[in-house]
Amino acid sequence: MGVFDIKMKTVLVTGGAGFIGSHLCGFLLDKGYQIIAMDNLITGGIKNIEHLRSNNNLKFINHDVSKHIVVNEGLDFVMHFASPASPVDYQKIPIQTLKVGSLGTHNTLGLALAKKAKYVLASTSEVYGDPLVNPQPESYWGNVNPIGVRGCYDESKRFAEALTMAYHRIHNVDTKIVRIFNTYGPRMRKEDGRVVPNFINQALKNKPITIYGDGKQTRSFCYVSDLVEGIYKLMLSDLNETVNLGNPEEHSIFEFAEIIKGITKTKSKIVFKPLPVDDPHVRCPDIAKAKKLLKWKPKVELKEGIIKTIEWFKGN
Ligand code: UDP
Repeated sequence: MGVFDIKMKTVLVTGGAGFIGSHLCGFLLDKGYQIIAMDNLITGGIKNIEHLRSNNNLKFINHDVSKHIVVNEGLDFVMHFASPASPVDYQKIPIQTLKVGSLGTHNTLGLALAKKAKYVLASTSEVYGDPLVNPQPESYWGNVNPIGVRGCYDESKRFAEALTMAYHRIHNVDTKIVRIFNTYGPRMRKEDGRVVPNFINQALKNKPITIYGDGKQTRSFCYVSDLVEGIYKLMLSDLNETVNLGNPEEHSIFEFAEIIKGITKTKSKIVFKPLPVDDPHVRCPDIAKAKKLLKWKPKVELKEGIIKTIEWFKGN
């Protein structure tokens, strides 16, 4: 780790050792930015950025952003990507999840204000809850159960969005909010409990593929490189609004299981397990805004992205 060059642009990525955060760090290093990756490693892993550690333009700080943050360097951007994001994870650690979305967002916004940095909040399609409108445009206010088991994530992100807008309106911080829909790719944790790692790893081991409920619920899966390109475009834009980023190709979970079976040629059988509480029935992004204002749309086909993800799981 060297000393940062004051002429280069510097970005703080919280959750920098997480799944999306680590891809963002790699992408921004390639674009010529200096990166401070901050993570307390409760759901992230240092191995996610191991391949970047020899790069002098990356510094790693092990810190819980729910506590006061000290950064000595000047910052041009603060990207707040720290949070558990898998339903299994955040239901295991709901208090940390609420703290990183509330206190962590407050600390990172305060830092952005002090450093005169632009700010990007990683929000989520979960702010729409179990949506009554499909696909979901940014103008939809959502259908969230605040006291349900997913409330710790949904409400912390909704609070994070409200706080971000308050810092924009009151303190003029140049803020952007990205609502991230289901994203997949290399470096997801095998055991994080989400549908993509579960189905792939079950299929690779010829173990039963566990569909929760009847499998008629839908999701739309975006490959991580597409998402990161969209985030980069938003970060450089002059928008101060919420923008959905995700892949609008919607599949039922049953169809998705069949897709995984087809690609892996597994001997796995499909088994049905109870549907988790408050599991959204549908989810699909309306990306008209990102298309129009960011000139962004996803490029990676589901099959292509899944094959790359399978290759990665095989080697890890
Ligand atoms: N799911 C499933 N089997 C699994 C894991 C998840 O059927 O082994 C379902 C889950 O009930 C949900 C969808 O797949 O309807 C996506 O779940 P995930 O945990 O990936 O994230 P979510 O989109 O709910 O945040």
